[in-house]
Amino acid sequence: MTNRLNDIFSDNVMNMKRSVIRELLKLTQKPEIISFAGGLPSPLSFPIDIIKEIACSVLDNNGAKALQYGATEGVNELVDELIKILKDFDNVDLEKKNIIPTTASQQGLDFVAKVFCNPGDVIIVEAPTYVGAISAFNSYRAKMVEVELDNDGMKMDDLESILKDLNEKGIKPKFIYTIPDFHNPAGVTMSIERRKKLLSIAEREDLLIIEDSPYRMIRFRGEHIPSLYALNKGKRVMSLFTFSKILVPGFRLGWIIGPENLVEKIIVAKQASDLCSPPFNQYITAEFLKRGHLTNTLTNTIAMYKEKNELMLKMLDEYMPKDKGVSWTKPDGGLFLWVTMPEHVDCDEMFKVAIKENVAYVIGSAFYPKGDKKNSFRLNFSYPSKDDIVEGVKRLAKVINETI
Ligand code: PMP
Repeated sequence: MTNRLNDIFSDNVMNMKRSVIRELLKLTQKPEIISFAGGLPSPLSFPIDIIKEIACSVLDNNGAKALQYGATEGVNELVDELIKILKDFDNVDLEKKNIIPTTASQQGLDFVAKVFCNPGDVIIVEAPTYVGAISAFNSYRAKMVEVELDNDGMKMDDLESILKDLNEKGIKPKFIYTIPDFHNPAGVTMSIERRKKLLSIAEREDLLIIEDSPYRMIRFRGEHIPSLYALNKGKRVMSLFTFSKILVPGFRLGWIIGPENLVEKIIVAKQASDLCSPPFNQYITAEFLKRGHLTNTLTNTIAMYKEKNELMLKMLDEYMPKDKGVSWTKPDGGLFLWVTMPEHVDCDEMFKVAIKENVAYVIGSAFYPKGDKKNSFRLNFSYPSKDDIVEGVKRLAKVINETI
């Protein structure tokens, strides 16, 4: 091995860090620990028998194509089905040139950063925001400027003042990155008023919006809200979706929609990255959609997550010291909720106590680009069993009561 590693690593890779969450998750693997830390869907939501049958039929009918390299633009049958889903779900009219399958959304985020960001470029993100997006943007050395969130999503007055500030310094952000639906980690959803306001600000300032929405189809409460892409008819919005939470994460399959000239650049980035997303998985997913199984699978998943979410909220309500300044979000969908503690509490430190009490969460600081806000944490309710939700919240309440 060369002794010059520090000289030969690129500036980009020197800037990359191992995911904090993955490191913490290692500590939560012991069987006695009840973990609310992961971000996994429930395996009970996986339609294994249906996938098994479809996989055999794909091999019987389309084996040679499914096991061959495929086009970077994706398997035609899948793209056709995606166009139909988005018409049904969001009433958007897409053509093939507006859509590209990806090796799930994490690859989509890497492409967004790769296509738009030079080192030092400013982008706008929510605070907190998805930790994997922070990693992707850091890899290309983008400079993230944080806009605060509240229960209605990104705060528009904060965005306005940040843009004004940047404007005065002669800085134009490359894009605004948002997770409008059932936010990871915050669990909040951007209201329709805020969506319209965001689009009008983007129009006025001539900014691109990146809408990352893995949980959009997992709504268990409240009314459907149009996507940013739908409201803007895809003029200045590029949206990332994934099958990870609505079918299975193991397929590593997602898709991006956007204006043709942006999708073109994503295709070029994808050619250099993996040539194509696995055609076998694309064929299976296309057939799964064509046979109409998504509706049933989603109905089951949504019912399961609703029940678990309600149970977690009930337990939090019963056991948490609300009078001592502990609060949490009440998501209308998705997999996560966000607990905020009094300002002085350091939830990174409290994590060690929680592990001793055999319960785990994800430290909130991991979701801030600067890692400086420490009085919050994320809880996942999709993966733990109902018994574990009951016992885990009791353990957590004990840790919190002792810490406060
Ligand atoms: N974006 C957000 C907001 C996420 O929460 C996740 C992961 N849960 C991803 C992107 C990446 O997911 P995947 O690569 O499995 O599609």
